Amino acid sequence: MTNDHTVHVTDVLSFLNCRQQWDFSSHLRQYLERKTPVIPFFVGKGVHDALDVKYERGADPAAFFHQYAQDELVALHRTEGELWDTELDKLKDGIDLAKNMLWHYELWQRYDTSTNSDQNLKFIATELPDDTPLMIPAPPDFAGSEEWGVGFGLRLDGVVQRTTDNTYWVFETKTCRSIGERKTMLANDLQAAMYCWAAEQMLGVTISGVIYNLMRKKIPSIPSQLNATISTPHGNLPTFSVAKSTDTTFEVYKHILDGLADKRASERGGEATVRDQLRNILYDHHRARLEDLWAQGNTYFERYELVKSRPQIRRALHTVWHAAQDMLDPNVPIYPRPGGLQCNYCHFRAPCLTIDNGGDPSRILEEEYQPRRPWTPSVEGL
Ligand code: SF4
Repeated sequence: MTNDHTVHVTDVLSFLNCRQQWDFSSHLRQYLERKTPVIPFFVGKGVHDALDVKYERGADPAAFFHQYAQDELVALHRTEGELWDTELDKLKDGIDLAKNMLWHYELWQRYDTSTNSDQNLKFIATELPDDTPLMIPAPPDFAGSEEWGVGFGLRLDGVVQRTTDNTYWVFETKTCRSIGERKTMLANDLQAAMYCWAAEQMLGVTISGVIYNLMRKKIPSIPSQLNATISTPHGNLPTFSVAKSTDTTFEVYKHILDGLADKRASERGGEATVRDQLRNILYDHHRARLEDLWAQGNTYFERYELVKSRPQIRRALHTVWHAAQDMLDPNVPIYPRPGGLQCNYCHFRAPCLTIDNGGDPSRILEEEYQPRRPWTPSVEGL
């Protein structure tokens, strides 16, 4: 436990969700994390941090992620020694997933011209400093003294100015299993309302709401190459499946065709006119599928805009302030809040079950958990 009087919104959410889980993980309490990475969390964090360095410093997200994954593997080897093959395989699958998500994301933005695409957003602040916490105002009906003051610490992905209408928005990346499912969870998102309030305090501009950068944790399928070929002035070229059951996107399909044309043009001396001619032949042959995918839109990513009203922001401030009063009380009662889904995904299931059975979790905490490491996005070597 600490004398820190600062709360973070993820910590508040954890407290409201399950106090037992919060007690294990919070910087105000035991501040622990699993030694072996939880794969969905590992992927989400890696992708998130890679996009932070892209928008904050213009760095290559793929190169960042490569370094991040290497560092994680080295750190894991140092603390855990050799991993079991199954653990290593899961980790490698996670690394592969994240790399491909970032590759696909870059392709997507290359063609995205929608209102909230990168080309219409000016990233005016990313990783706003959190070394001086903002003081959360007490509710108007509160009659206590300043001793009850609560600091709010945060790590914003960024704030953007939309150049088409000069409005300001918090920009927040979320990785998820299903974009539709995630969107339904965002309507009363406490984090979003608090970030809008915090960004207004720090930047002195009106924030309209949040633009969520939603990313599905899935790799699109690569269309399979067929035996049938098409004749071109530069030799026959393979063709690709146009099956609608292939879960892919316009960007990926076009990228495959472009890559094939580029390769053949390079074999023929690398002339741009040859490349363009081959691309056009391939586009014509696969036009129906390309048009179909274009009309369908990219189902792997979405920029989802959510306006935050003044009442929503006020209510969020009151919720966080009241929760913080309990969180900062060293004698706050700790108890579990079991629930099927949340317990299945909980990082602290094993020590929680030990307590449930009347046992002492200290041994398992010592063997399988470590003090949480602070967030340190490194771009060294990029
Ligand atoms: S397993 Fe369930 S009840 Fe236990 S700490 Fe995790 S979320 Fe809470």
